Amino acid sequence: MKYPQGGEKQLIDAVISRQVPAPPAIPINVGAVVQNVGTAFAVYEAVQKNKPLFERIVTVTGKSVKNPSNFLTRMGTPMSQLIDAAGGLPEDTGKVIGGGPMMGKALVNTEVPICKGSSGVLIMNDKEAARAEAQPCIRCAKCVSVCPMGLEPFLLATLSAHKDWERVEKEDVMSCIECGSCQFTCPSHRYLLDYIRLGKGTVGGIIRARNAKK
Ligand code: SF4
Ligand code: SF4
Repeated sequence: MKYPQGGEKQLIDAVISRQVPAPPAIPINVGAVVQNVGTAFAVYEAVQKNKPLFERIVTVTGKSVKNPSNFLTRMGTPMSQLIDAAGGLPEDTGKVIGGGPMMGKALVNTEVPICKGSSGVLIMNDKEAARAEAQPCIRCAKCVSVCPMGLEPFLLATLSAHKDWERVEKEDVMSCIECGSCQFTCPSHRYLLDYIRLGKGTVGGIIRARNAKK
């Protein structure tokens, strides 16, 4: 399987060879609906067993974690409690990531509750967490070739760094699925996803404010 095949647009393309256009188009516009297994199971439990969704399976893992585990946990449970249940925070912890290694976000605090979107906690050691210093772009276009959405990550990141929000929107930042492939591939270790996320968040806010005025 090729990453990021879990993204719904990539899955639809791989399974039924249909391409979902850029937002605001959604899968139903090409006659498709994608539900993950967890959602389908939650619907089954709600309809057949009258059980509301109050639990999640959350993975706690990492090279130095004593007992990496999957926990069936109630929403609202503090993340720190799950980390304790997996053997506690290792001494060489460099970063705690909410989510996976590609799309997850670094947490500043583990006293956060598990919520409906929590899937896992990745504990990186010092060595894994160290980020190489960003070097100048060598225009190799690797980031472009790996982007599953056909975007130009180097351009989006540069425009975001310059706060050129109009062009960031025009270059279709809202289509970015934040898969992290561009940043992972970049030989110059440029912080592409960080800037693209900044651009996406800002442009998303601008679009919402514009729509609210209509
Ligand atoms: S994170 Fe990078 S590679 Fe992934 S969709 Fe966004 S721009 Fe493309
Ligand atoms: S992969 Fe990195 S170095 Fe290559 S074009 Fe993209 S930003 Fe520049």
